[in-house]
Amino acid sequence: MDVRRSQSTSNSYLSPKCIVRIAEEKGGYAVYAAEPIAKGELLVMWSGTLVDSAKLETLPDAFRRHSLQVEDDLFLVSLTDCEPADYVNHSCSPNAGLSGQISLVSMRDIQAGEEITYDYAMSDGSDYDEFPCSCGAPQCRGHVGGKDWRNETLWVRYAGYYSPYLAVRIMRMKNRRRAQLRRSRIDGVGKSASLLTT
Ligand SMILES: [Zn+2]
Repeated sequence: MDVRRSQSTSNSYLSPKCIVRIAEEKGGYAVYAAEPIAKGELLVMWSGTLVDSAKLETLPDAFRRHSLQVEDDLFLVSLTDCEPADYVNHSCSPNAGLSGQISLVSMRDIQAGEEITYDYAMSDGSDYDEFPCSCGAPQCRGHVGGKDWRNETLWVRYAGYYSPYLAVRIMRMKNRRRAQLRRSRIDGVGKSASLLTT
């Protein structure tokens, strides 16, 4: 894998304000801000080949690790050398989030030298890439998995930054819960009324 590959030969987009460097504490590479970045700037637009989960399972680990889930059963994979944009790591306290299925934007102002990270809960809806997390954030979940998108605390923190297919799942879950709440209130009212009449 040649992370020195220049932007001009890369299929994905990485903002010229970002650079890829070895992150020894992480045992691999990471993407950093080379200069200050304002909230809302486009940092990454990934590209690759779309495969379903059955095909993904047949691919080597190195490809799977750098893939991105973009739909219920579709994954974007770099089937050539990993590209600079593929080295954005997970954090449970990220400074970037998804905009659409394949773009990453800054969620706040980012200082030069900060690592660019996003929470895989924003993109992952299945268990193809689960791992213990030691990102060091005070709110670190300790484990990253395909069900993290169900975490309601994150719904508030990452509102507007989920992949569209997960935003739809979250909306459906919220609607189901509202309907359940309405039903339980109606049942409650019915019971109180029957108590009054007996
Ligand atoms: Zn973590």
